[in-house]
Amino acid sequence: MSQNYTLITVGHGRLIPSETTMTEEQLQKRTGQSSAFWLTRIMDGIYRLNCKNKITAEHCVRNYQVYCPQCKLVMEPVFPVNKHETPVYTCKKCSK
Ligand SMILES: [Zn+2]
Repeated sequence: MSQNYTLITVGHGRLIPSETTMTEEQLQKRTGQSSAFWLTRIMDGIYRLNCKNKITAEHCVRNYQVYCPQCKLVMEPVFPVNKHETPVYTCKKCSK
């Protein structure tokens, strides 16, 4: 099972991850403003940003900064971004 992280919105679009034992199903069912996003670990330094409200990848990439769960640095979106897919982020430091 892949590791999931809840995301807390801080300031202007900064998404801070926090490790959770919740499954994708449980995360989908959460309510409240801070529960619109979560992160799923694909491999070291590579994470998928899940958007409950079907916000497009372009929107996420433009409006949010996602922080690395491991080293707390800002991650970079992996390009090219397909607007029909959830965005994938990579941490330059942890993906090496
Ligand atoms: Zn990192």
